[in-house]
Amino acid sequence: MSDKEPPNPFEEIQRQLKELFKDSNVKVSAHAFNESEDFEEFLTAPDGQESSPSKEDMTDPLKGIRNFQLKPKEIRDYLDRYVIRQDEAKKVLSVAICDHYNHVRRCLSQKTDASKDYSKQNLLLLGPTGVGKTYLMKNIAKLIGVPFVKADATKFSETGYVGSDVEDLVRDLVKTADGNIELAEHGIIFVDEIDKIASEAGMGGRDVSGRGVQINLLKLMEETQVNLFSPTDMLSQMQAAMEIQRGGKVQRKTINTKNILFIVSGAFDRLAENIKKRMAKSEMGFGASHDEDEEAVSTYLKYAETTDFTKYGFEPEFIGRVPVRVACNALSKDDLAHILTNSEGSILRQYHDDFKGYGIEFNINAEAILQIAEAASKEGTGARGLMTVLERLFRDYKFELPSTAIKSFEVTPDMIADPLASLKALKKANAHLQKDVWLNDIKRFAAHFEAQHGFTLEFKPLGHDALIEEATQTGRTIQSLCEEKFKDYKHGLSIIHNNSGQTVFKIGKLAVTNPDRELSNWVVRSVNNAKQKKS
Ligand code: ADP
Repeated sequence: MSDKEPPNPFEEIQRQLKELFKDSNVKVSAHAFNESEDFEEFLTAPDGQESSPSKEDMTDPLKGIRNFQLKPKEIRDYLDRYVIRQDEAKKVLSVAICDHYNHVRRCLSQKTDASKDYSKQNLLLLGPTGVGKTYLMKNIAKLIGVPFVKADATKFSETGYVGSDVEDLVRDLVKTADGNIELAEHGIIFVDEIDKIASEAGMGGRDVSGRGVQINLLKLMEETQVNLFSPTDMLSQMQAAMEIQRGGKVQRKTINTKNILFIVSGAFDRLAENIKKRMAKSEMGFGASHDEDEEAVSTYLKYAETTDFTKYGFEPEFIGRVPVRVACNALSKDDLAHILTNSEGSILRQYHDDFKGYGIEFNINAEAILQIAEAASKEGTGARGLMTVLERLFRDYKFELPSTAIKSFEVTPDMIADPLASLKALKKANAHLQKDVWLNDIKRFAAHFEAQHGFTLEFKPLGHDALIEEATQTGRTIQSLCEEKFKDYKHGLSIIHNNSGQTVFKIGKLAVTNPDRELSNWVVRSVNNAKQKKS
């Protein structure tokens, strides 16, 4: 493997955890955001120039490209903040991206450059699922400020009658660019599962439709004009017709794909097996031993040659149009732990922010991080396994805790082993605080009722107790109990108000246990009082 070995994971994680959770989470993320903004400003600012945007810059969607000054190592450094490992892919992508956008920048400033021959550096990213292939490209697109779209190759059909047409990808770029065609013409298109549109020769012949999709993609990768309105989409056809009817200035109707960068990607499991066999054959003569069986087969993808792809079922013209190829590595358990603690886009940070939304904090220790990483690694879906494991772990906590008085909890190995039992214990330990939460919920309901209907509901202690008792027995929220019990109160209280001018009503035990009877007693009493006053 070409990637650097990480340092001792335990110590490293502890250090990173301290960093990740220092102060409150809100502070950390706000700080990180400011930093990243500054960094991006620095990266896109032309040498020696102030980076404060002029009026013209603000309205120029291509500003990021016209000012493109990045160097490959700067892109790599930026990616390092989000993507763990994949050093080779970062290197290759950084160089290809710089070449592409430097060329585009020159074409934008000097029209003569645009007519020069230039071979676009479309890329092929190989590697197992969930290792950061899409994530790398998404971050690059964000850094440069160009639109990015992703689709699976399997959803396309040759004709577009069944499934989508590859040209839809280009139209999607326009949508992502908020309708700005010029910006869309410099965007990035990512086609995943490309290995699924090739079928091995000799295994029942080639997949005709897959071949057709390859040819169609090929046209896009070269230079072609794509109609802004899809010929198979009735809605966009009608839109086009309406625009023509409306008259006025004729808008551009096509998008040129010359400067759109294409990334195709796939897991290529069978290809990796084939390469392994090929290499084993050639090594046999030298008596090489084969103790790499334990290593992931995907490691062989980095040895892929053009003939491997054509044997696999790719058209030579197609594979020739993706000259830059790089394999991403499978992620180890330690890599997954590093993603949790190190990546600026770590899913753990998202959970922190989600809980923070309810004023809840959690702490996590290094042992728990390693345990989560281990469970995620068993999922076999790369970093996506982290989301699965964390979702399972936090599911009940996210549902239950916002309705409790609990404002902090610990993620420990015990909690990971049995989240529900830990949650139960946590709730039990904090049960004495629960009454305040319910009282607050009752206050919240009364305030909302007053704001909506203009009547004050004053809950008496016995009223509180009866409501809390019912919430405990039924497991329902105070909010839903109150809404149900007092749904007719607005109407009944209006009648009483008309009779007596009363606006404040005391809610005791009876009003909670039998709200309709209590209300009707009040109404009858107010009518009688009014009659007595008149007579
Ligand atoms: P794929 O390789 O299948 O394209 P993705 O890039 O879509 O996988 O990864 C899915 C998610 O997992 C990303 O959005 C990101 O949050 C996380 N992820 C995957 N690989 C990495 C990595 N190397 N470093 C940090 N996060 C990663």
